[in-house]
Amino acid sequence: MTKITNHMPTKELQALDAAHHMHPFTEDAALAKKGARIITRGKGVYLTDSEGNEILDGMAGLWCVNLGYGRKDIAEVAARQMEELCYYNTFFQTSHVPAIALAAKIAELAPGDLNHVFYAGSGSEANDTNIRLVRRYWDVKGKPEKNIIIARKNGYHGSTMGGGSLGGMAGIHAQGGLPIPNIVHIGQPHWYAEGGDMTPEEFGLVRARELEDKINELGADRVAAFIGEPVQGAGGVIIPPSTYWPEIQRICDKYGILLIADEVITGFGRTGNWFGSETMGIKPHIMTIAKGLSSGYAPIGGSIICDEVYHTVANSGDDFNHGYTYCGHPVAAAVALRNLEILEEENILDHVRNVAHPYLAERWNALADHPLVGEARLIGLMGSIALTPDKANRAAFASEAGTVGYRCRERCFANNLVMRHVGDRMIISPPLVITPAEIDVFIARATKSLDETYAGIK
Ligand code: PLP
Repeated sequence: MTKITNHMPTKELQALDAAHHMHPFTEDAALAKKGARIITRGKGVYLTDSEGNEILDGMAGLWCVNLGYGRKDIAEVAARQMEELCYYNTFFQTSHVPAIALAAKIAELAPGDLNHVFYAGSGSEANDTNIRLVRRYWDVKGKPEKNIIIARKNGYHGSTMGGGSLGGMAGIHAQGGLPIPNIVHIGQPHWYAEGGDMTPEEFGLVRARELEDKINELGADRVAAFIGEPVQGAGGVIIPPSTYWPEIQRICDKYGILLIADEVITGFGRTGNWFGSETMGIKPHIMTIAKGLSSGYAPIGGSIICDEVYHTVANSGDDFNHGYTYCGHPVAAAVALRNLEILEEENILDHVRNVAHPYLAERWNALADHPLVGEARLIGLMGSIALTPDKANRAAFASEAGTVGYRCRERCFANNLVMRHVGDRMIISPPLVITPAEIDVFIARATKSLDETYAGIK
């Protein structure tokens, strides 16, 4: 067989891709007809495809390449670690320096007494850990019946059996027998789509109090934990009303429910603080992390665990019978540590707060004046715009729901910009290192794509 390289014609690569590669979250037969866009290189905020197009990546891959593509300093760390110790496990009373150093660094960055790290290979795996961990915690406390986890409709926590169950995505639940038992869902704080005549603040309280109602319905002695993303990402970058998280915190505290913040997207600078929980003013017992932990340079995730939960499980007198071969993988851990060091050395959080965010926010929020846009929201460097046929009434497209967003995404792609769509919401999460000049390119391409989408439906 000939060696398959970046230099092969696009059509040949597409044919091989269709023949042998099954894609995640994809209708493969439809993709095979169209042919995947083949990405060959990345540098900074730009990707190059097999046709030589330079594409501005407004999603940082899948919300992960926060330092941008092509960093030699991270690649060198990976190469060195592969030579020194490519792999060893952390199961049977062994450890290694990359896992130790990264855990210590994460504990230093994490707020409060979130001092302990259990590694995973991804955000989904980490959330599977969280299900087992919180159930184990209450078990050791002598409350094995306290095992229900409350999550939210339209939340996203991954696509393993556990992660997909915690998530509240109808499409995921429709396949494969999800959710698993003892995971229940309440409404999301999505004021724009579901808030009706209420103010955002009123609606935030209404949605948070669904948690209290659910706890009272089930009995607090049966509820182990509540999980939520500080800002819903895959659900459409839904920034909750200011009243929402303080009320959730109050309810968790009142009823003795563990609070899990899924920081897979919001962790490590995305909202302008190290963690979205800090931006939202909450104090979780457990955080889920992945993505920005390594800026996507290596697959790694984990759970950051507070003293109380950690010490209870650690002192149970028994093993915590859970783990993955690649927990704390030395290469991934070394890469993640270097990534965190660079975030500090290059003051990336300051860049998000003082350069990228105000500059993008002004231009992003101005898109709300476009005839197709109902609202534009941005927090740190994650944002969304709602496409609407009727700006005044926050109306959704009726018969063609979801297709306008899809068409806008296609126009963006044709204009060499990656913006993703969730139904008829366009979402962005560019690399945190994006500069004002790159933001100008971003906005120009986004505006052109919106204009073309609008012209197509008029
Ligand atoms: N949690 C959140 C909030 C996510 O956004 C994602 C992925 O997008 C996950 C969990 C799952 O992470 P992974 O895809 O690494 O399994």
